[in-house]
Amino acid sequence: MPANGLAYSRALLKISGEAFATRPAGASGVGGGGIDFAVIDRLTDELKQVHQLGIQLGLVVGGGNLIRGTTASQQGMDRVSADYMGMLATVINALALQDMLEKKGVDTRVMTAIRMEELAEPYIRRRAVRHLEKRRMVIFAGGTGNPYFSTDTAAVLRALEIEAQVLMKATNVDGVYTADPKKNPDAKFLPELSFQDALVNGYAVMDANAFGLCKENRLPIVVFNINQPGATARVLAGERVGTIVR
Ligand code: UDP
Repeated sequence: MPANGLAYSRALLKISGEAFATRPAGASGVGGGGIDFAVIDRLTDELKQVHQLGIQLGLVVGGGNLIRGTTASQQGMDRVSADYMGMLATVINALALQDMLEKKGVDTRVMTAIRMEELAEPYIRRRAVRHLEKRRMVIFAGGTGNPYFSTDTAAVLRALEIEAQVLMKATNVDGVYTADPKKNPDAKFLPELSFQDALVNGYAVMDANAFGLCKENRLPIVVFNINQPGATARVLAGERVGTIVR
């Protein structure tokens, strides 16, 4: 156990674009959930609490509240352009998050996988680690910087690169279930499962590429509900919150 009394001293939190919006994605499915500043206000309160615990925290933000490449391409956009739009959407979310965190006194840096130095630093691994050591919350934006990937994959990649001890996947449900709990009342909650079990049973922990990368590198994943007050801090304290996959 790390010296700070927590279960982990460095963690990576993946926040989906949905966590930035109250409305679901627009009828087109392309995006359209938009950004709800009241939601970000609550989210950043949680993050501030975690920061005060002294944990080194990296964040990877999604962009699905604004645009998703696959959906946009199904509606006629070129896939690669649509994916770049998706990556830019994550930068928009990152800047909103940064602004609110800084207003609450949390020191942050946004690092982008696509260079845009007027507004954020380019992602450089050693620099990211240095920021974390200096207790700055690092927001990784722009996904992996490559089309055809997802921010889940970016989250695993960054977690491995910064040597995070855990990847926390923030969702709107309590964890992994045997079926979709919103559609199936018989769905059973799974507090813990192995990578192999998740794979064999096809439980949707994260997208297949990202999951494979976690499994291969034995990076534990905690899937939890970010809407429960204090949940992020409790995961980091080692409490049994959500589902742990290891
Ligand atoms: N994206 C991409 N490469 C990446 C990460 C993201 O092309 O490395 C694009 C992709 O189009 C994706 C969009 O950005 O649909 C938004 O990211 P994602 O869907 O992962 O966001 P989330 O579901 O977490 O909100």
